Amino acid sequence: MAEDVKNVTEVYVEMNLDKALDDIPDICRCPQCRADIKALVLNQMKPKYVSTIKGEVLSKVHAFDTGKQVEFICCVQNAVEKVKGRPQHD
Ligand SMILES: [Zn+2]
Repeated sequence: MAEDVKNVTEVYVEMNLDKALDDIPDICRCPQCRADIKALVLNQMKPKYVSTIKGEVLSKVHAFDTGKQVEFICCVQNAVEKVKGRPQHD
């Protein structure tokens, strides 16, 4: 199990989503809404698959970060607007 294929975009989103949501007021942070937001963000961003051994992912995520931060924040804001408009719960 040393080798693996990872979607760097997904790792990046998981690592940065909570921090991004901290900057957005009035958004429900329950597991359902957070998952909805994450799914919407991942659908907007192009996946980036890498074959890598464990431990190399973080350096790839870091390299990915510099070019993608603006796009990521934009996608989070779009996703938040959609989830606010139709929450999956009362
Ligand atoms: Zn919620």
